[in-house]
Amino acid sequence: MSFCDQFVDRTWGRRDTFYDGPITTHVSSADPYCPDLRRVLVQEACELSITVHDGGTVVVIQGPRFSTRAESKWFSAMGWDVINMTGYPEGYLARELELCYANISLITDYDAGLADDPTMPAVSHHDVVAAFNANNASLRELLFRVIPLLSEEPECRCHSALAGARG
Ligand SMILES: [Zn+2]
Repeated sequence: MSFCDQFVDRTWGRRDTFYDGPITTHVSSADPYCPDLRRVLVQEACELSITVHDGGTVVVIQGPRFSTRAESKWFSAMGWDVINMTGYPEGYLARELELCYANISLITDYDAGLADDPTMPAVSHHDVVAAFNANNASLRELLFRVIPLLSEEPECRCHSALAGARG
C-alpha cells in the first residue's frame, strides 16, 4: 500500500469546491493530506506486515480511459508514483471542510506496462478488480485497527484550514 502525501490533478469538469461564492475562499493544498493520520496508518500497516510506501505523489487522471504508454512514461518521468481516477477532488474537499484525510493507495497494476519490460501487459479492468479484492482484507484490517486509535481532538492543522483562507 502507498500512503501518498501529494497529488497532481489531471482531471477536468469536476466540481471541486464548497466555496464558489459569494465569499472568495482559497484553502491551501500545499500539503493536501493529514500528516498525523498518515503516520498512524503507516505505523499500523507496518505492524500488520503490509508492504508500505510512505509518501509519494498520486496523479489523478480523468478516466475512465486508462493511460497510453506515452502518458504512463511521462507520469513516471515526472516522479509521480501512483495513478488514480478518484483521488480528486475528494481529498481537497475534505480539506475545505477542515477534516483529516489520508490517501491509501492499493497498488493494482503497472498502468500501461513497464517501459523497460515490453512483456509486461497493460492494465485491464479485470486485473484491477482482482488485485483490489486481494488487498481488500488487508485494508479492512488496517482500518479497523487505526480508527480506534484516532484522537477525537487531533493536533494537526487540518482543523484550521479555513483560517486565513478568506479576505
Ligand atoms: Zn489532520
